[in-house]
This record gives sequence, structure tokens and C-alpha cells, in this order.
Amino acid sequence: MTRYIDVNDLSQLVARKGLTTCLEEMAEYIRQDYLRWHDFEKCARLANHSPDGVIELMPASDANLYAFKYVNGHPKNTQRGMLTVMAFGALGDVDTGAPLLLSEMTLTTAIRTAATSALAARYLARPDSRSMALIGNGSQSEFQAIAFHALVGIEEIRLYDLDPQATAKLAANLRAFPAIKVVLASSVADAVRGADIVTTVTADKAYATILTADMIEPGMHLNAVGGDCPGKTELHRDIVDAARVIVEYEPQSRIEGEIQQMPADSPITEFWQVVNGQVLGRENDTQVTLFDSVGFAIEDYSALRYVLDVAKALYIGHEIDLVPALENPKDLFARLLPKVQAVHKKRA
Ligand code: NAD
Repeated sequence: MTRYIDVNDLSQLVARKGLTTCLEEMAEYIRQDYLRWHDFEKCARLANHSPDGVIELMPASDANLYAFKYVNGHPKNTQRGMLTVMAFGALGDVDTGAPLLLSEMTLTTAIRTAATSALAARYLARPDSRSMALIGNGSQSEFQAIAFHALVGIEEIRLYDLDPQATAKLAANLRAFPAIKVVLASSVADAVRGADIVTTVTADKAYATILTADMIEPGMHLNAVGGDCPGKTELHRDIVDAARVIVEYEPQSRIEGEIQQMPADSPITEFWQVVNGQVLGRENDTQVTLFDSVGFAIEDYSALRYVLDVAKALYIGHEIDLVPALENPKDLFARLLPKVQAVHKKRA
């Protein structure tokens, strides 16, 4: 049997655990899996592009579990009343190939992305960071704000979006977290000025320059989340050129990240090297650090592993017949036989 977790189940899981606990625990699952980097079979995700978007498959496996995620990115979807990013995924048993979990991953992706961003900031941002600019106030933004508050100690968040209604929605949702001081900024530059951390999480299929070099101050940490496809970036290349750049998985980030703007041999570090202490994250207080995030399959592997563990512990979701269970494993036809016989009897 396969455990099935739909959107209601996942919402129930988050309600019972608490969102900040989910963010904290998922970040720890992600950290543990990044520590085991060499245990994983990895590849850049497979992307099928269309004029307005992309659909991607993201697989990763170790000796025990195989994970994949189906995810799209269609920035114009919100004009049609649909989400920009939607996802589902599965976990399988490597020994037998049996599917163990089929799960919603739209909410899960928002949680895992925010958990990954906050985890990276723990290594890359100045430890005394207390304020963050949050540019792009759509679906991912609440998760980013809450993760940086709970996991990194951010107290003030400065919001900006081209769409004032998106900013108003984010500000209203954050009222449930009174310890977060929310400031509405009048422009990107106004939001970024004086911030310790800048998160960009905008959606546009374009070489955008949300941030330009004149906005960047010594010691800032940049968490660039929204640029995650060929031809879809958020930072001017001068910023990327000057910053200490950390990516998730170089072969994928060279295609999809901010570093697609840079020469193929430009200096970068992979996040696992920082997590396992092989190299320093931030080297000094004045350095500008850039987490050039595109989302990597190991993070989804960790997220699915977490969802399955919690769902089992809390008896959430239900078991479905995704593949046939047979008395005789060589007799697949037996599963159809009663139906086939019934149809034949009717016709006779
Ligand atoms: P969304 O459509 O809900 O929100 C995006 C927001 O960005 C919108 O409110 C839009 O008005 C705003 N925006 C667009 N251009 C802007 C600009 N120039 N200045 C200011 N605001 C601007 O999308 P979402 O689900 O929040 O996702 C945001 C981005 O994050 C997408 O590009 C998505 O692909 C990316 N993403 C990345 C990861 C990752 O792991 N790195 C994971 C999930 C989503």
C-alpha cells in the first residue's frame, strides 16, 4: 500500500505540528541529507519549457529511498486565478521499487524552500542579522518571512512587490505573528536600504534586475529564490560577480541560477561543502554573500521523508492501491479477471 497525502492532509499535518516546528524540523532533515551529499545519486532536473512556463521533474535517490517531484513555474498563472508554482511528488523503496508515498508538494515546496533559505542564511548571513527586505510578496513570501523570523532571528521585514495587493495580503497574513515588525516599502531600493538580508522571490520569465549593485551594502546576505530557470534571473550580474556565491548543485545552477549570467568557470561553492565544514560560508562581516537558490531534488527528498515520518507518527493520510497487491505476483491479470468476465457475461 502507498500512503497518500493530499492538500487537506498536509494542512492538518502543519496545523498539528505548528508551522515553525515544521520549518525547523524540515530544515534539520535537509541539513542531515546535505551532510550525506556523496550518498546520493544526483542530476540536474529535467525541464520542459513552453512560452509561458516550465514543467520539471526532479529525482534524487540514495541506497534506501528514491524521490521525485513534478513542479511547474508559470508566472502568468495568477492572472488566470491559478498558482504560479504547483507540485506533487513520491517516495519509493529502492530495494523493491514499491511506491511508499504519493504526496501533494505545493505547500510542501513552499515550506522546504523557506526552510532551505533559512538554513543557508544560518551559515551565510551575519549572526547579528535582524532585518530583511522581502521583494516579491506572492505565494512563497509568508513562508520565507516566518522561516527567517523563527530560524534566523529576523525581527523586522520590509515588504515590496509591484502588486500592492500582494503586499497587503502578506502584511495581513503576518499579523498572526505579532513579534514580526512589518514595514511597507515604497520601492525595491527603499526596502533594501539598511537591511541585513535581502530575499528576492519574484516571478517573471525574464532577465530581470530586481537588485542593482548600487543597492547592495557591505555585509548583506542575498537570498535569491525567484530566478530558477534559463532566461529567468533577478540580480544584475555585477552583484553576482562581486558576491561570495553559494549554489545547491553546480550542474543545475549553471543552467538555472543567477550564475547563468557568469562565465562557466566563475568561482562558486556548493552548499554541502559549507554544511559539512569543508569551507567557510561567510568569511568576514563585510563580505556580501549570495545564496543562489534554484531548488534542488535532495531538498524534496528530505521534505518527502519528513512528511512520511510525521504522517505515520500522527496517523495522517490514508493508504491507497496505487499498485496492485496480488496473491500470485505473476498473475497480474487476476486483478482484471472478475471485471473482464462480467463484461463478457453481459455481452453473451
Ligand atoms: P507568485 O506569482 O505567487 O508571486 C510572485 C510575486 O512577484 C508576485 O506578487 C509579483 O507581483 C511579484 N513580482 C514580479 N515581478 C516583480 C518585480 N519586478 N518587482 C517586485 N515584485 C515582482 O509566485 P511564488 O509562488 O511566490 O514564486 C515566486 C518565485 O519563486 C517564482 O519565480 C518561483 O519559480 C520561485 N521559486 C523558487 C524556489 C526555489 O527553490 N528556489 C521554490 C519555489 C518557487
